Amino acid sequence: MAQKWRMGLLKVSKFGGSSLATGEQVRQVCDIITADPDRRLIVVSAPGKRHKHDIKVTDLLIAAASERLMGKIGASECAEAIERYRNIVTELKLPDEVVEPIARDLTERLSNDTDDTDLYMDTMKAGGEDNCARLIAQVLQTRDVEAHYVNPKDAGLLLSDEPGNAQVLPEAYNRLRNLSERPGITIFPGFFGYSKEGHIVTFSRGGSDITGAILASAVRAEVYENFTDVDSVFAAKPSIVPNPAPISELTYREMRELSYAGFSVFHDEALEPVYRAMVPVHIRNTNNPKSAGTLILPHCNSRQTPVVGIAAMSHVCCIYLSKYLMNRQIGFGRRLLQILESENISFEHIPSGIDNLSVIIREENLPTDKEKRVVEQIRKILAPEDISVERGLSLIMVVGEGMQHTVGIASRATTALADSKVNIEIINQGSNEVSMMFGVKSNDMDTAVRALYAEFFNGDNNSS
Ligand code: ASP
Repeated sequence: MAQKWRMGLLKVSKFGGSSLATGEQVRQVCDIITADPDRRLIVVSAPGKRHKHDIKVTDLLIAAASERLMGKIGASECAEAIERYRNIVTELKLPDEVVEPIARDLTERLSNDTDDTDLYMDTMKAGGEDNCARLIAQVLQTRDVEAHYVNPKDAGLLLSDEPGNAQVLPEAYNRLRNLSERPGITIFPGFFGYSKEGHIVTFSRGGSDITGAILASAVRAEVYENFTDVDSVFAAKPSIVPNPAPISELTYREMRELSYAGFSVFHDEALEPVYRAMVPVHIRNTNNPKSAGTLILPHCNSRQTPVVGIAAMSHVCCIYLSKYLMNRQIGFGRRLLQILESENISFEHIPSGIDNLSVIIREENLPTDKEKRVVEQIRKILAPEDISVERGLSLIMVVGEGMQHTVGIASRATTALADSKVNIEIINQGSNEVSMMFGVKSNDMDTAVRALYAEFFNGDNNSS
């Protein structure tokens, strides 16, 4: 083997699906891995989209499994997924046989028992990452690099038995710690682990970020590098604000707020493990590894500006209720939340006044049938004078730790919105003052984001 290994410093590097979509990208990923001897624990996603209208391997596998669950064969979708690996193998000029075990594995998964539909689906979904990790290990070996695939079960990635939304079990961390002692480069498939019963279970979509974060925390990595397809996290979505400012440093709390409201560059569930272990996260671009990227840290002491980013999410609704003397009625809030709980509805915010209260919910969590039942129950149990449900809202988040020490941010934000003729429907600010939330009608969302961006980033963001 050409490479010498030194123990000690260890970087966990995760490569997303858009970094692994073609043979050329796989080559680039392998160049990045071998360019730094500290990159010894690598997490990979399944091959993603090659272009805008392409289909991710994970989506092909989900489509194949869905067909099979509907009593059909699902073979064409599965063949398409296998074809994606074949293309990568061909582009890398590797022998055709390399794709054979991948084809066998995916075909076998497809023909598995379907009695437990959720577990069947998760086994199919995990096939994308699992085969990609085996392939990357093999590509590195052809370069004479010591690289080994590791199965998450053997490594000890134990997850809760919640297919499609699994959570890491605390005992997994101790088991995973040994990964730092393995020789050579370890290639770990993202997105899935195993339940105590030994079943494959996946995280929520985009969950390879979570795998990387768990490993980085378990081995106390010096840094968790998250390679994706953008140069950095930006201060606003480029689809709304042209050429937004790149963010060079962010705190964990700021990233949490931004990813909550639609900054999809880093999975929001991935922050917790690294936050607890205080491992810095470095968001980097596979296609431009020289760019500085964005660092996510416990504190950013050097930043001068109070606001770091403006995020927005649409498809939000609001249940509004009012009742005279609500503030004196003990148990009113509890009973309201119990009604939501009994319908398995999670809520986002509860801004309130003395005699009124709004519950903000993602629209996907309040389909019309549930809305009808919830409103009936609220009328029956709480007898409000007024109740209404408003759909088509968006939440805009103004985010920045510096807001805690700066006077006038709310005034600047509301003035900017008023000047742009955006009506604010809801305002909420948590007591930690990391973010300020504005609810607006969805057709005002882009205008609102642009107005706030112009206020805090095009002028003097620094003033207090
Ligand atoms: N491949 C999975 C997905 O598309 C997980 C990931 O890419 O992180 O959701």
